[in-house]
Amino acid sequence: MQFQPVLDEIVATLRPELGQAGHVANYIPALARVPAGQFGIALRTCDGDEAHAGDSTTPFSIQSISKLFTLTLGMRELGETLWERIGREPSGNPFNSLVQLEAEHGIPRNPFINAGAIAVADRLVSLFDAKAEILSLLSSLCGDPVDFDEEVAASEAATGFRNAALANFMKSFGRIDNDVGTVLDMYFHHCAIRMSCLQLARAAGFLCRDGVHPYTGAQILSERQARRVNALMLTCGTYDAAGEFAFRIGLPCKSGVGGGIVAVVPDHLTLCVWSPALEPSGSSLLGIKALELFTAKTGLSIF
Ligand code: GLU
Repeated sequence: MQFQPVLDEIVATLRPELGQAGHVANYIPALARVPAGQFGIALRTCDGDEAHAGDSTTPFSIQSISKLFTLTLGMRELGETLWERIGREPSGNPFNSLVQLEAEHGIPRNPFINAGAIAVADRLVSLFDAKAEILSLLSSLCGDPVDFDEEVAASEAATGFRNAALANFMKSFGRIDNDVGTVLDMYFHHCAIRMSCLQLARAAGFLCRDGVHPYTGAQILSERQARRVNALMLTCGTYDAAGEFAFRIGLPCKSGVGGGIVAVVPDHLTLCVWSPALEPSGSSLLGIKALELFTAKTGLSIF
């Protein structure tokens, strides 16, 4: 299939809607001032063919998309023991909710809500220099040097009272091993990584290749683990709207409040869309429309 014309058509279709609806994340100034009228889309097939259109090489704050890659590190390093303190069910609650965590004794529902990602960060901090490891994994996967946006990381830290509450709450249940400040520093930094659509489409490539690195052929995750990450993306990857995503798009997706969404078509391709204005559930409004158009035009779906 020729993907470049499909992506060009999606950009042309959505261009009139750029900056018209939705709201850019405004909980920190560095995200609030990102111009809403941007849109990029990029994909990479299992065979290494690439197509991209619009603002596909503009770096943006990947935010919760980073949780996909910290989970990957956690699964790779810890195997089954990662799941001792983290569940695998959709939360049905806002991504930063405290209520469920109390009822469930400090065990977060899944690795993609904030509490779950903080629990993963704690496990990673126990193992190695987690900030260096996540940058090294992402740089290797996409073939470009990847870095933190220190301004975003500092703002996340300055305003992240709820994340601090989640971390302290889990610590009170004995579910966090390390110093809370150190764990949150890792969490805020990985949320503050900057990458473009093209870099993310490349970096996620192992998820459509049974866990195999898109360039080196190294096994990043086992085939089974890669399938499980896709399953978690489908059921838990898009805040409290995973059912709606499955219904409208039919692909495993992970979104972030920076406006990026990574999607996987197992055994075919990975793609990333980005547009900063969000719909109320926290995912990119035009990103969702773009993915809907993509699956409608190509007929690709896991169902
Ligand atoms: N850094 C954000 C937070 O912890 C993550 C936002 C997101 O879900 O993308 O609040």
